[in-house]
Amino acid sequence: MKSTDVQAGSISRADAARKPSPVRKKLAGTNLEFAHVLNQRVVLETVRLWGPLSRAEISSHTYLTNQTISNIVDKLLDRGLLETLGRRSGQRGQPAIEVNINPKGGYAVGIHLDRDHLTAVLLDLAGTPLEYAHLEWSFPSPDEALPLIEKMIRGLVEDQGLRMEELWGVGVGLPGPLDIGAGTLVAPPNFPGWDELPIRDILSKRLDLPVFLETDAMAAAMGERWFGAGKDVEDYFYVFFGVGIGGGMILNGQPYRGAFDNAGMFGHLPVGASGNMRCSCGGIGCLELSVSLSSLFAALSMARPEARVNDLDMLLGENDAILIGWLENAAESLAAGLVTIEHLLSPKAIIFGGRLPVPLQKWLIERLEMMLPQRRMRALRHHPVLLQASAIESAAALGAATLPLFNEFAPG
Ligand SMILES: [Zn+2]
Repeated sequence: MKSTDVQAGSISRADAARKPSPVRKKLAGTNLEFAHVLNQRVVLETVRLWGPLSRAEISSHTYLTNQTISNIVDKLLDRGLLETLGRRSGQRGQPAIEVNINPKGGYAVGIHLDRDHLTAVLLDLAGTPLEYAHLEWSFPSPDEALPLIEKMIRGLVEDQGLRMEELWGVGVGLPGPLDIGAGTLVAPPNFPGWDELPIRDILSKRLDLPVFLETDAMAAAMGERWFGAGKDVEDYFYVFFGVGIGGGMILNGQPYRGAFDNAGMFGHLPVGASGNMRCSCGGIGCLELSVSLSSLFAALSMARPEARVNDLDMLLGENDAILIGWLENAAESLAAGLVTIEHLLSPKAIIFGGRLPVPLQKWLIERLEMMLPQRRMRALRHHPVLLQASAIESAAALGAATLPLFNEFAPG
């Protein structure tokens, strides 16, 4: 199926990619055509979250009439976005025919581009990762990086025997800050050559596909909403451990970017980290001065200059004094940052993910579970649960791959 076929009756994906989504809540005064598109999204999202479902079950989930559901399901079957699973047995009366998302109904690629690596993943419409690719690099210029990005994406598509037209689009997770409307990074620290580069439009032209940008933290947060720990949680804050440390907010089930795209810049909360040192952002005492892979490797650099992410598990197993000292200090700063988040947002969960190895994240979560009760407002009876993300190392790329799908599915 060509991606343009899927588009009939909807706003074009290329247009949608240029606008921050979700569309603000101006849903009153819609015309019938728009209502129809919205209902299709509601049905797709319902089947994605709770499928396989019969038509009657979709109807009870969505408050739409049986007749409306039947029409929409028929259209979505015609378009190849849903598939029929046959009749469910073992029930009284006429067994219901169930439908589910058709995995072959569409595909998307997500990439995570950061100063030290490029990761890509190809997803099918059911959200199953079909193939990953990864390379390490060091602060590449756009001229070096762009051909490698294009080659990696085309390689994944070819390996799976697909055509580029079968992709719904490409999602790109990047270190912030971003200007999503303009499709650029804005003065990213330690990333020369990328400031205000129109990366979305350049990639879109090279690949002839819609391209969606998101901060890596928000992409990872959206990925968890799609198929991870956030699937059943409407309000959560995602803490993303990367070269820096980022945050992504999902509020009322939707990504929240704020008026200027960069809400959730968790790493730059001034928590008095590292003796109020100055951060690369220009601020003082930012959280990421003591909680980020770069701060960890700076701490390890004298004793273990060769240490890489893959060595951290082993160092924890050996109770390495420098690593334990870094973790204790990181937990202090994180506790201050998380109490701030709890007071501001009152989320149901805080989800931890990103490139810090799982055993280290678990160490931090256990420590925070002990520390946070002493710092919280005692009068509040409910507090967010601390969860481990289901996608770990490739969380941002996986999340980015859901951006083209999210844009089509999630009712705004
Ligand atoms: Zn900062």
